Amino acid sequence: MENVDILVIGGGAAGYFGAITAAQARPSTRVVIVERGNQPLAKVRVSGGGRCNVTHGCFEPRPLSTRYPRGARALLSAFSRFQPADTVRWFEERGVPLKTEPDGRMFPITDDSETVIACLEREARNAGVELRLRSPVEVLRPVPSGGWFAKIGTSNAHEIHAKRVLLATGGWRSGALSTALEQLGHEILPPVPSLFTFHINERWVRELAGLAVPKVEVSVPGTKLRETGPVLFTHWGLSGPAILRLSAWGARELAEVDYQFELRLKWIPEQNAETVAQTFQRTRESQPGKAVENTPLFQLPARLWEQLVVEAGIEPGERWNQLPRNKALELGDRLLQTELPVTGKSMHKDEFVTCGGISLKQIDFKTMESRVSSGLHFAGEVLDVDGITGGFNFQAAWTTGWLAGHAMARDFNPLSTT
Ligand SMILES: Cc1cc2nc3c(=O)[nH]c(=O)nc-3n(C[C@H](O)[C@H](O)[C@H](O)COP(=O)(O)OP(=O)(O)OC[C@H]3O[C@@H](n4cnc5c(N)ncnc54)[C@H](O)[C@@H]3O)c2cc1C
Repeated sequence: MENVDILVIGGGAAGYFGAITAAQARPSTRVVIVERGNQPLAKVRVSGGGRCNVTHGCFEPRPLSTRYPRGARALLSAFSRFQPADTVRWFEERGVPLKTEPDGRMFPITDDSETVIACLEREARNAGVELRLRSPVEVLRPVPSGGWFAKIGTSNAHEIHAKRVLLATGGWRSGALSTALEQLGHEILPPVPSLFTFHINERWVRELAGLAVPKVEVSVPGTKLRETGPVLFTHWGLSGPAILRLSAWGARELAEVDYQFELRLKWIPEQNAETVAQTFQRTRESQPGKAVENTPLFQLPARLWEQLVVEAGIEPGERWNQLPRNKALELGDRLLQTELPVTGKSMHKDEFVTCGGISLKQIDFKTMESRVSSGLHFAGEVLDVDGITGGFNFQAAWTTGWLAGHAMARDFNPLSTT
């Protein structure tokens, strides 16, 4: 049996940050990360399309916390201790300056996630953190005399006794660890995906693949789900920030209907039936002989306008001064509330995350320690915390990892190792 002071299960963003923080705060402790895979920080590598969207340039805890469909309240206090400004400073002090893009996303100035990985690996190594790869924890249980027992692997299993454990295993899947935690009294909210794009089979939608519309209001009738922002047409339906945000807020509701629902799109969020009618009237007077399909209004992309005109039943070449009232009303309706049937989802290639995980009621967010199992801390996506797209998920991993790392190191009496 190997004895360690702090065992970190999971070599992802949260696990590394927790391990480094603990080892730097209390250099005499023996901190070991056990990682199931062949390499650590795999998601950091692929994140943000290989650029790693490290955090978001939102430096006030309250507005920052509103970007989390799950975990907002718990994170509010956590962000008062470690928030994006601290993340920026942390990386900058360690030779990784970040830059902010116009939409607030922050990346390393190198635009390369390897810079972030190299920094985390270097910090861990210099702080004496040990890393064990290909080391899946299969058994975890408290030891009556104190601390935790972990068994790694099934054949030739290696056994570890740790005084404190940080569980940072990422998005949930059922398995030995989840059963063990449930037996200890932890509630695990069932995992469902968040941050996904919508499948829409309408031919005209797919024909517009590649087209971006800068500002669209998207909503799901019969729910409170509503978002405004850029929408992107894809080969299988719709994507873009407004769709991803809607998927995050609706992760559970949309899973319950198996991703089959009506999506309403208001292509001109600032307009209403009256202003649309006025604009049509002005166009009728100023350009009476022009074909409706060749007169895009409201600064809509011409290709989208043409499709909406066709969908409204307006014939090719039909002119403004010929447009019957019922077709004008139909076009206005399409502009203000196109309804499209969503038939499924795809994961977003640049960022996805799971909704669900360890119930936050059971976690003390000052220390990230379990309220039902002392000496067991949690950080990152393993918790029922997730953010919208834009760097908020990594920020939650850094913040919770940092809080757990400090708490584990505090008042720590190192065990003698054998
Ligand atoms: C393609 C993609 C791109 C993304 N891009 C961004 C982005 O740009 N910005 C952003 O904010 N978020 C992004 N995210 C989300 C972000 O990656 C996660 O929120 C974040 O990685 C969570 O960190 P974590 O440490 O909690 O979990 P993870 O990064 O998932 O790490 C958990 C680790 O635990 C290991 N593990 C699991 N079980 C065991 C076990 N039993 N024993 C030992 N090890 C175990 C896993 O192998 C894994 O390495 C992206 C996600 C994906 C999938």
